[in-house]
Amino acid sequence: MKVREIACKTALCQSGLADYALNCYVGCAHGCRYCYARYMRRFTGHTEPWGEFVDVRVNVVEILLRQLPRTRVGSVMVSSVCDGWQPLEEKYRLTRECVRLLVTGGYDVSVLTKNALVVRDLDVLGGSKRVELGMTVTTLDEGLRRVIEPAASPTLKRFEALKAASEKGVRVWLFVGPLLPFLSDTSENIRSLLKEASRLPLERIYFDKLNVRSGVWPSLEGLLREHHPAFLGRYRSVLFDPTERESYLEDLRRRIEKAVNAHHLAGITVLF
Ligand code: SF4
Repeated sequence: MKVREIACKTALCQSGLADYALNCYVGCAHGCRYCYARYMRRFTGHTEPWGEFVDVRVNVVEILLRQLPRTRVGSVMVSSVCDGWQPLEEKYRLTRECVRLLVTGGYDVSVLTKNALVVRDLDVLGGSKRVELGMTVTTLDEGLRRVIEPAASPTLKRFEALKAASEKGVRVWLFVGPLLPFLSDTSENIRSLLKEASRLPLERIYFDKLNVRSGVWPSLEGLLREHHPAFLGRYRSVLFDPTERESYLEDLRRRIEKAVNAHHLAGITVLF
């Protein structure tokens, strides 16, 4: 892992997901094989594989302090192209300090992570009803999880983090996806994830399919060649053949709805 400390000029950036996005790191050591943020390599001149470099924006707290007085208060997505609680955050505490400033400044803060390290910061997140914590999960199969999200927290730890957050009064929600065809999109996995979800006071749950934009396909193709070569042909079919894709997605939607109905869950959005 190549780690560099860099200086940034801006903390809050315009975003399509909220009024602003905050990213304290460039790159993400979680190294998810399906990560859409890998396009950041192009913008930052990194040649290392995604997941093998992180630039730490060491002055981001200072820059945010300067930026806040001249910024209209609004909603902030933390983080959009990295994970704010990836392992280096344990040492640098940048996301923690930035979120603390945003909460104090009256911003609506929406956090999305795959790391249970966020529990360290529940004292900050629990300080305002304007803060919500989302956790992304994809599979309860730890063997598969280690392959597709190697440095993120085990999935059960993520559910535990949501539980701890809700007990501190933080509003919590769940993002299930992307579901990988024939690996994590099985009805059994979807039902198991919803069983865990049903124990939590989640405000909402989103489901998403796999998208292969931003160089995701070469990454997944490598994974399949190494671990599941028998699925290569089926992946090409459901990802790149429009007729096969429509039929695959219709079946996936139907299976998600069936599992949701079995658990009597409300507030579910299927994003495809
Ligand atoms: S945690 Fe998010 S940003 Fe980090 S590698 Fe995984 S998908 Fe990408």
